[in-house]
Amino acid sequence: MVLTPCCHASGKGSIDSLSGIVCRACYVDVHHKHGGGDTEIAIPVADLEIIIETGS
Ligand SMILES: [Zn+2]
Repeated sequence: MVLTPCCHASGKGSIDSLSGIVCRACYVDVHHKHGGGDTEIAIPVADLEIIIETGS
């Protein structure tokens, strides 16, 4: 678990987030590394491809 840089909170899964993870405290998009082990959400393949294309 990596705490979010904005609120030092844990992340949570969100299908509305580009990364698939938002800060649990303020709901801003955060890196998926903040999701920890409780992010069992389904991300459409198309969204994953978008993340890969824009990730680096
Ligand atoms: Zn936050």
